[in-house]
Amino acid sequence: MNIEKYSLGVGDRFGFEGAAQLRALQKAQAFGIDIVPVWNKSNREHNIIGTVPEDTRKAADTAVKTCNWKSSYYVDADHIGLATVDRFIPSCNFFTIDVADYIGNQTTSESVSAFVKDMSRFVGTLEIPGIHQPVAVTTGTVMDIAGKYLYAVDEAGKVYRHIAERKGADNFIAEVSFDEANNPQTPAELFFILAAIAREGIPIQTIAPKFTGSFLKGIDYVGNVGRFAQEFEDDLAVVAHAVNVFHLPSNLKLSVHSGSDKFSLYPVMYAAMRKFNSGIHLKTAGTTWLEELIGLAASGGDGLKAAKEIYVEAMKRYDELCKPYLPVIDIKKEMLPTPQHVASWSAEEYVAALQHNQSSSAYNLHLRQLLHVSFKVAAEMNGTFVSLLAECRTAIESNVTYNLFSRHIEPLFLGRSNGGSHD
Ligand SMILES: [Zn+2]
Repeated sequence: MNIEKYSLGVGDRFGFEGAAQLRALQKAQAFGIDIVPVWNKSNREHNIIGTVPEDTRKAADTAVKTCNWKSSYYVDADHIGLATVDRFIPSCNFFTIDVADYIGNQTTSESVSAFVKDMSRFVGTLEIPGIHQPVAVTTGTVMDIAGKYLYAVDEAGKVYRHIAERKGADNFIAEVSFDEANNPQTPAELFFILAAIAREGIPIQTIAPKFTGSFLKGIDYVGNVGRFAQEFEDDLAVVAHAVNVFHLPSNLKLSVHSGSDKFSLYPVMYAAMRKFNSGIHLKTAGTTWLEELIGLAASGGDGLKAAKEIYVEAMKRYDELCKPYLPVIDIKKEMLPTPQHVASWSAEEYVAALQHNQSSSAYNLHLRQLLHVSFKVAAEMNGTFVSLLAECRTAIESNVTYNLFSRHIEPLFLGRSNGGSHD
């Protein structure tokens, strides 16, 4: 099983928006860009909502049927490890093996020595085609990287083999992710991590490093875009070089997660992908639930009422709802509108505050982040929320498709500027 050049994370908290997302990919096809969907839902998300991996598989199969989707599609066991992988094995064919927590764990001095010996041919100046600066490598560099990452890669190998034994090595895509690490990996680190992964025999097709800057939930990238661009290009160069040197799968590509609306990065990513003729895997799925809220609010009546109630409840349960996401949100409480104020809003006012349109002065990124992490409130409304989703289906689907196509696919894959508001 080989993943295509371009792939995009889809799926959503409640599992109803697959068809509307696929329509965005079908629009891209009409422009000559083939992007395959990867339904992703993490273990944490399943636990908060009370769903199981089979539900994601069903949502994917249903959407594919509804839209008569002819290309490949995948279901991702997102951010799993040995402790959590088992229940994902029957329904998933893409596994994001997350070993960030193992970075820095002590490995044996024998395995460090063996790695350093194997890598001695790279000591000196490492010439990587397309990289901004040649990478100077000493024995010390390799030892440090081995000390920091070998344990984690070893763990990734265990998880990979655990899945391969149960599923068959040809029946799934393996990704290894380090994006939830504390610090970005340097080009040298990424190069030797890939070396270690190749030695471990993991045929990875996507790798998720950590990038510089802050990737917060539901809002734009916070950081130095120029620095990101350089780092991203260097990572593309390293991946392409490592594929040749270590005989990794030739379709190996970068996977960019963490945060959902990386709007300011899309133009530089587009340019870099053109420059290196490289593929990409992009995860974006988390904000689809906000498009559902926008659709509810835009529909007025009971939909708007429910959207307001969810905000009132989110304010009441602020600490509880934010707690699991504290490292990936940055909400200034004083910038949040009061529940009384929100209660007085028209449909247009609610939509304008929540919709990710940075050129609008009504857009409130604090409210957007709070609502992003408040899907639990909607999940607890059970039947009420689900029947409202059905009632407001037309408005919701048009927002979901528009958001994915115009705000994500157009800038990242077609090199066209960002969609702004939907009207
Ligand atoms: Zn991630």
